[in-house]
Amino acid sequence: MIPFIDLQSQFARIQPEVEAAMLAVVRSGQFILGPEVAKLEERLADYVGVKHCISCASGTDALVMALMAKGVGPGDAVFTVPFTFMASAEAIATVGATPVFVDVEAGSFNMDVAALERAIEALAKADASIHPLPRLPEAELKALKPKGVIAVDLFGLTADYAAINTIAAANGLFVIEDAAQSFGASANNARAGSLAEIGCTSFFPAKPLGCYGDGGAIFVNDSELDTILRSIRVHGQGEDKYENVRMGITGRLDAVQAAVLQKKLDIFDDEMDNRQRVAAGYAAALASEGIDVVAPAIPAHHISAWAQYTVTARDAVARTEFQQRLNAAGIPTMIYYPKALHQQKAFANLGYQTGDFAVSEDLTSRVFSLPMHPYLADEQIVEIVAAMKA
Ligand SMILES: *Cc1c(COP(=O)(O)O)cnc(C)c1O
Repeated sequence: MIPFIDLQSQFARIQPEVEAAMLAVVRSGQFILGPEVAKLEERLADYVGVKHCISCASGTDALVMALMAKGVGPGDAVFTVPFTFMASAEAIATVGATPVFVDVEAGSFNMDVAALERAIEALAKADASIHPLPRLPEAELKALKPKGVIAVDLFGLTADYAAINTIAAANGLFVIEDAAQSFGASANNARAGSLAEIGCTSFFPAKPLGCYGDGGAIFVNDSELDTILRSIRVHGQGEDKYENVRMGITGRLDAVQAAVLQKKLDIFDDEMDNRQRVAAGYAAALASEGIDVVAPAIPAHHISAWAQYTVTARDAVARTEFQQRLNAAGIPTMIYYPKALHQQKAFANLGYQTGDFAVSEDLTSRVFSLPMHPYLADEQIVEIVAAMKA
């Protein structure tokens, strides 16, 4: 049985170091923040290439804290994509703001920048003929204040921040990079997490850099944002714990996770190299076997973190057939994502309809993901692709 994500092989590789590091935290009695967290933050900031890293309790909290730091609240609109994990849009709703969806491109699975420009114009004119908008009462829609963009680096490939940052700046919007799936990726030698004003990532166990529980981090260069985010992380604290200067949350990373993450960072570069090997192996095998799927294409000067290896089948029937063949061979597959966010019940209040985001809807019916992790052997890649043949 080939695992979809193999955390056991990774643990076997670093078991003595990880266990010793966890035990050291237990013996230290310093469980929340403290020196292990500070050391991790320094290493992460260094790795990503930003001045400040603020670790936090999850990738979702990272997004919520980023929006809080930018003062986003009720009556504000934030643009994001509907073809992503729930949290990207949920964070916007959590702070009381309104997600305004922008479709993705089929090739990269990431935000369509031309659609972003149309969405900004449509909202400014409250004119849904330019681009689909939430079907809110007219006064409410007209009162929405566009504040920012959350772009997502889906499956590990960074979005087009050169274009997104330019469009956002021209319209007075901030940009948050949802790098939950792209830690370790880069674009033109700049690392994921550093590509917008605020970068947010997740250390959920299955992410490229995962801990043994929930965790996340925020990356910024601005010192004032750093101070605000550290305050938000601990109930909006001021000079000390019992002075509160703003609303915040319990958003801290614990020291056990920080210790685990440092041991995983020690082998992360090697794991990233192996993810490149696996992706290249899939691309070569899919092509040589003539498998009728579209393999992911990575643009020049980009390195994906390969959180997922997602292929696109001809249609929904073909996808089901591939999944059945793989399943019969004991090979797990997943569908990320079977439903676009504008079609989720949780966002029904926005009034979006099927047809509003044709590319995202089409992808939900055709994509599926193959096992992807650094410990997948070349022979296993060949075996997986062979099992896809009719
Ligand atoms: C996983 C994920 C998140 C949320 O991270 P958690 O740590 O699970 O809260 C946010 N956005 C995307 C795109 C994700 O894949």
